[in-house]
Amino acid sequence: MCGERVPERHAHLVDIEQRSIDCACTACGLLFTRPGGRYRTVPDRVRHDPDAPLTGVEWAELGIPVGIAFFFVNSALGHVVASYPSPAGVTECELDLAGWDRLAAAHPLLRAPSPDVEAILIVAGSPRLAGGA
Ligand SMILES: [Zn+2]
Repeated sequence: MCGERVPERHAHLVDIEQRSIDCACTACGLLFTRPGGRYRTVPDRVRHDPDAPLTGVEWAELGIPVGIAFFFVNSALGHVVASYPSPAGVTECELDLAGWDRLAAAHPLLRAPSPDVEAILIVAGSPRLAGGA
């Protein structure tokens, strides 16, 4: 953003309008921690809920054609967006929003991310999770 060289461990900014993410120096990262502008700093918190994995059935209901996807609230659209890797790059897919709401009622951590700057990463098919995700 300002042209300052960033260290190996550094902040990231989301451009809400362009839907892109860039590296930022510490000072620039501190400038955009509050909502309301074009840029937002990505928080560095990580939450994990290994005691309540999604079941195989719950994962299947999301209709994601691969075994890994991330979900975030797009404030411009006003709802959750699902994306997953594909040979053509990151692909967005239509998400059954009512299905997502049912899932979030059973797994409250799905409601925890801050809009635009945090995401839920779900990995399905891990041998440790016995068919869950
Ligand atoms: Zn900077």
